Order: sequence, then C-alpha cells, then structure tokens
Amino acid sequence: MRKKQFKAESKKLLDMMINSIYTHKEIFLRELISNASDATDKLYFKSLTNTDISASRDELKIRIDIDKENRTLTISDRGVGMTEKELESNLGTIAKSDSLNFKKENEGDENIENIEVIGQFGVGFYSSFMVADKVEVVSKALGEEGAFKWLSEGVDGYTVEPCEKEERGTAVTLYIKESNENEDYDKYLEQGTIQSLVKKYSDYIRYPIVMEMTSQVPDPEKEGEYITEINDEILNSQVPLWRKNKNEITEEEYNNFYKQKFYDYTDPMTVIHSKTEGQATFDALMFIPQNAPMDFYSKDYEKGLQLYSNGVLIMDKCSDLLPDYFSFVKGLVDSADLTLNISREVLQHDRQLKIIAKAIDKKLKSELTKLLKNDREKYEKFFSTFGVQLKWGVYSDYGMNKDGLKDLLLFKSSNGGYVTLKEYRDRMADSQNDIYYACGDSEEKIALLPQCETVKEKGLEVLYFTDDVDEFAVQMLMEYDGKHFVNVQKEEFDLSTDAEKEATKKKNEDSKELLEKMKSFLTGEVTDVKFTNKLGSHAVSLAAEGYLSMEMAKVFSQMPGAGDNMKANLVLEINSAHPIAEKLASSDDEKLEKYTKILYSQARLIAGLPIDNPTEFSDTICELM
Ligand code: ADP
Ligand code: MG
Repeated sequence: MRKKQFKAESKKLLDMMINSIYTHKEIFLRELISNASDATDKLYFKSLTNTDISASRDELKIRIDIDKENRTLTISDRGVGMTEKELESNLGTIAKSDSLNFKKENEGDENIENIEVIGQFGVGFYSSFMVADKVEVVSKALGEEGAFKWLSEGVDGYTVEPCEKEERGTAVTLYIKESNENEDYDKYLEQGTIQSLVKKYSDYIRYPIVMEMTSQVPDPEKEGEYITEINDEILNSQVPLWRKNKNEITEEEYNNFYKQKFYDYTDPMTVIHSKTEGQATFDALMFIPQNAPMDFYSKDYEKGLQLYSNGVLIMDKCSDLLPDYFSFVKGLVDSADLTLNISREVLQHDRQLKIIAKAIDKKLKSELTKLLKNDREKYEKFFSTFGVQLKWGVYSDYGMNKDGLKDLLLFKSSNGGYVTLKEYRDRMADSQNDIYYACGDSEEKIALLPQCETVKEKGLEVLYFTDDVDEFAVQMLMEYDGKHFVNVQKEEFDLSTDAEKEATKKKNEDSKELLEKMKSFLTGEVTDVKFTNKLGSHAVSLAAEGYLSMEMAKVFSQMPGAGDNMKANLVLEINSAHPIAEKLASSDDEKLEKYTKILYSQARLIAGLPIDNPTEFSDTICELM
C-alpha cells in the first residue's frame, strides 16, 4: 500500500501546529471529544430531519477507553462516522473543516439552531500528535456497509485501508508517546488524569462522556476491607449552569458552583448571570467575591474570566475580558461566536472578543450602579474591599474610564460615613463653588486639620481622602457636574470675605521684613511664610503652593527613583489673629529663628509629615520652657 502525503503545506503546517499553536499538550483530549460531540450532533440533527435514521440514547454517547498495556487511549463515538473519502479529505487535509461546511450547508434549517457544532478550523484533530506517535482512526459512516482505517505516524503521511467495524461511528486510538525527562506522557494513561481533563475542558459537552472507572469500595461482607469495583461512569456534568434559565437556578446552586470553581469558602457577594445577543452573542456568569482573594495583592494574581466556546473551555483566565479595575471579578463567558483553538496571541486580536469585553464592562458597571441604589449597606461593604480598584480605574489610562466609574465612587466625608459625588453635589449650597477635600492618613487625622476645621465651621462639607490614589483620581476627573475639586490644604484656598482678604493682605505687607527674615531661617524648606486668617483658633499650618499637593508629593516620594523635583512647594501659614503673631513681631533675631523652626516643625507634624530632627525640636522647646 502506498503511503499518501498530507495535502496543503501540510508537513510544515503539521509541525508548526503540533509544536506551537497549543499552549498545553493536554488539550488534545478536548479536541477529540469535541470532534466526537460534533459527529454525534450531526447524527442527531440528521435523525431529526430524516425518519429513516434513528439515534437511540445509547448512541448519543462518547466513550473513552484506556489500555495501559498497549499504551493506547481511545475516544469513540457513534456519530455520523466518515467514509473512505471523508477520512482522506477531512483528516488528510490540514485546516479543512467539514464541520464548518456542515453548519454552512444547513444554515436556515430550524433544527440547526439546536445543534452546537464546535469544529470550524480543521486543525484540532492533529493536536493528537502532541501526545501520540501513532494515531489510528477507524470509522464506519452513516449508511455505509464497510469501515475504513486511517493510520498515521505524523509528518510522513497516512494510509487508509478497509477494516472491520461493527457499529457506526468513529474510534480514534492514540498510541501514547513514551515519557522522557522533559515530558510525562504516562499520565494520559491514568484514569484520574483523564477524568480531571474531561472535567476541566469538556464538562459541558452535552452528551455523556463515559469511561470505565476502577474504584475501591468497602466490602459488604468483611468489615474494614475493600474490594475493587469496575463501573462505567459518566465523567461530565453535561448541562452548563449558565445555559440554564435564571429562574431554574437556585441561589444555592450558584453559590456552590462559585465556591467549587473559584476555590472560595464564602458565598459570593453578587451573582451576575446574563445572556447577551446582538453584536456578540454570549452567556456570562460572573461573581463579585465578598473578600479579596488570598493572592489578590500579590504579583502572582492573574485577573480574567474563563472563556468557553459552546461549553468547551478555551482559556482559563482570559485577561482581555476584564479591565484592571474589575480584576476582582470571577466568572466565565461562553460564546459561540469565537474562533476556537487558536493561540492566545491570535485571540487577543479577535474583534469579537473585544466586543464581548466591552459589553461585560458595561454590564458590571450597571450591576454595581444598581447595587449602590438598592442596597447601600452591601455596596459600602463592597466598596471598602474593592473601591480602591475603581479609583485606580478612574486614574489610569488618562482617565479614559472616568465617566463610567465616577458615579460608583464613594468617599468618606465630614458629614459622617460614605458619600457619592452626586450626593455631595446635591447637598452643596448655592453659594458653594467647589468641592472641598483634604488628605491624610485617617479620617480622624484629617478632621483635626486646622484648614478643615474652618471649612466645617462655615457649615461646608469636606471629603476625606485617605487612599493614596484619591487625589490623583479627582485630578483626573477635573470636575464633577461643573464643580472643581479643591484641596483645602492648598495655599490658594481661601474662603474669607473681601474685607478679610484685604486685612490679611495689609498685615502681610506691613510684616514684610519679619516674614522675609523667617523665610531665610527656613531656606530650602518653604517657598514662603505668610500670615493668614484661615486657621480658626490654631496657630500654624502648612499649605502647598502650585500644582503638587502635599499628599501627591508624599506618594511620589515613595516611588522608586523619585527625584527632588517631586517636592511640594510649602508655605508656612501663621494665624494673624493668634497671640503668637504678636510674639513673633516683638522677638529678637535669635529668638525669632528658634520660634520659626518650632512653628515649622509643628506645622509639619500637623500635616502628617516627618520632621528632620525630632531631638533638636524637643531640645528647643524644653529650653524655651
Ligand atoms: P474541526 O473540528 O475544526 O473541523 P478537526 O481537525 O478537529 O477540525 O477535524 C477535521 C474534520 O474531521 C472535522 O471537521 C470532521 O469532519 C472530521 N472528524 C474529526 N473527528 C471526527 C469524528 N469523530 N467523527 C466524524 N468526523 C470527524
Ligand atoms: Mg475539531
């Protein structure tokens, strides 16, 4: 018998495919099961349209058999099978998919809607050569008397010859490679491996996948002893939870599914189950966990949703489906629109995938918006766990995502508890021009800031920014509903009346000499020393002048490689109405220098900044005492 050559640039292609298209060798099983499922689907479809063809329950099954001795793994189905010609054309031509043709030919038939043929690339079958050095396909086609055997040892071609086979359908037998130091192939002959691979990739194939399972069960006659039992077992659960109708699924089912699949001990906070049709058709089942996953803050954490195509897993963590600010979301997407089987690189450029990702982003935002509206307590708990993520979302990508996210943000405020920007805006007095905020390590510390106190005394609300990202996020937002965000710790910030401003200005002009002197004692530390009326009953405070606020400078200075140009321009502000003002004016130069340095250190402490020389600070105070 003459060996036939693969068609197309087959040799090269086969080699390339075997070695590079698939990231994991183990997916060969998924491919062969998908093909068996397709063949069974086709038979089922034909039985619906042609009464001469029957498809009994027993025929609508896929079998897996392991023969350890001969090192073979066989996947068989009782589907449509392949004729001699089909064996040649389907398995002899790489990248030819008869399954795709089948779908196209039957387009418009009402029954085809219920058929979920998976194949469309014509490469899946060849993945068997990743684990086998010889592959044998024995097939008897629907309506044919004889059967044929296709045999190949990979790149050097294949043979087709007649053979015996009783039942209609196809049996694909892989002669599993010998293990070597780099690769363990023996595991594909273990029932446990096969069982878990079926669970992992093919759990939702709609036909039962059956395998003979050997298990140890307690001996009914002798207590404490075990006997070996061999039974056919169905390995897959067949119906994907997400394909069921929402109203058929209990909360418990959702919760168990989540906990099992995503390794969590606690029920999810929110379940989002949606069917989308339109530009892209897909089912999504997503969960927002109650707590951050264990490794969430580690470098190893990978965001992403599982990606299925017609119930077959294609990728475990498809990161392109989730924006970074939703990286805590767990779940999966199942779409028939996706071109299967191809490597991650290709998938990344898939237009369909981008459409799905966009729809998911929208869905998550609208679900969170709903939650915020309907269950404030739950939302606040969610926000305290994952809110920082959303704020980073506003900040990153140059604020590209700000519009969808800004109304999901919560901030602590001087009114107590969390507020949304909208709530703040709605409460603003007509005369209030800006949205006020102050930064610090904790709400308590911010509340005690001198500048904060005066704003509150005027009956105005102040947002308390305690996360590093807060101020950066609002800088990106620039404004909310026409109102700008204003840091009360900025030098420019001033709520006083024109008359008060005039008086302060005069005071500063009159004290020019004094202030210049004080400034000279703080060279390199502050850009200015000023009298102010913003401090209520407090003596001193620091304010930042120009673009960088103190908080932003603090964040920047913690970044690796931060230079000196990331320093805030500090202004030492002194309360003109405080007795200390008099004291300064009447001090001699030696005293003035000491007082100035003490005031500056105090102001730094109030602002939550470190002081360079705490010992000197303490010594000077003691000396004066
Ligand atoms: P695809 O599944 O993407 O079409 P494959 O390389 O997996 O590509 O398979 C190529 C073709 O071989 C299929 O389209 C199908 O026509 C045929 N085929 C493969 N396995 C079987 C099977 N078990 N029964 C019948 N036909 C099969
Ligand atoms: Mg296939």
